[in-house]
Parts: sequence; structure tokens; C-alpha cells
Amino acid sequence: MSPRIGFGFDIHRLVPGRPLLLCGVRFDHPLGLLGHSDADAPTHALMDALLGAAALGDIGHLFPDTDPKWEGADSIRLLEAVVALLREHGWTVGNADVTILAEAPKIAPRVPEMRRRLAAALGVPDDRVSVKATTMERLGPIGAREGIAAQAAALLEPLPPPCN
Ligand code: MG
Repeated sequence: MSPRIGFGFDIHRLVPGRPLLLCGVRFDHPLGLLGHSDADAPTHALMDALLGAAALGDIGHLFPDTDPKWEGADSIRLLEAVVALLREHGWTVGNADVTILAEAPKIAPRVPEMRRRLAAALGVPDDRVSVKATTMERLGPIGAREGIAAQAAALLEPLPPPCN
């Protein structure tokens, strides 16, 4: 098996009265992301990148938002479940690169914490996980702070065969 690459995208609406979680890190912000789970958009984009690389569908198929089981779900736990599924299919994570598109809050100060959270869930060292952020220069709905989007790319490597 050769290494495999995958790409993921997600967007959620910002609303009052919800906590803001990005890459498993809670931000002190007046608005939070709306969704069935905790609506952690960058973690969702990362899961879709991983599932895409393995051609194993997407998170909507794995964790349907019609299932009450996933209501308010911690997306880091879902990411761990995706990593376990990948392992069952003979894959381990090579590296991942996540970009958050948000006008606010300031992401940069929390990046080391976010990388640690994701790397721990992926079971890889922190230096294999990148988290970046950009604003939309006040353009469009993200620029108007109506939502936060995220993109992710991930590389999967074949697990070494078990040695007996
Ligand atoms: Mg989502």
C-alpha cells in the first residue's frame, strides 16, 4: 500500500449561547458554533480529510446528525474513533495540516494547545500536526462573523505488518 492523501472542509454558523470549540480547545468568545455535535469545524474537516484519504466515506455517514447518540458529542472523541477505524483498515496518520477561516477570535495564541489536542487524538507527535488560521479580510459571511470554516489535508501511511 502507498501513502494516501485526503482533503476535508467544514463550516458552522456562529450563534449566541453556544461554547466555541476549535480543535478541542475552548475559546472565551461571545458566540459559539451551532451544530448537532459540539460543532468543532476544524476537527470535523480533519476527520473528513482522514476518511477521504482512506476512501471510508465522511463524518456525516459515520456520525449522522439524525442520531441522538451524537448530540453534543465531543469531536475529539469522534476523531479518536476515526483513528481507530483507520487502524482497523491498516492505516496510520503521517501528518495533518488544518486551516481555520475566522474573522474572530484570535487563533494564533492557542495554536500550540490545538496542535497538542489534535496530535494526542491522532496518536502522533505534535510536530506532525499543523494548525493555521486566516481571516477572510471581512469578505463574505465568514468575514461578517456569521460562521467559521476550516480546511484540512491529511496523509495516511500504511501500518507496518505485525511482527510475530
Ligand atoms: Mg461539521
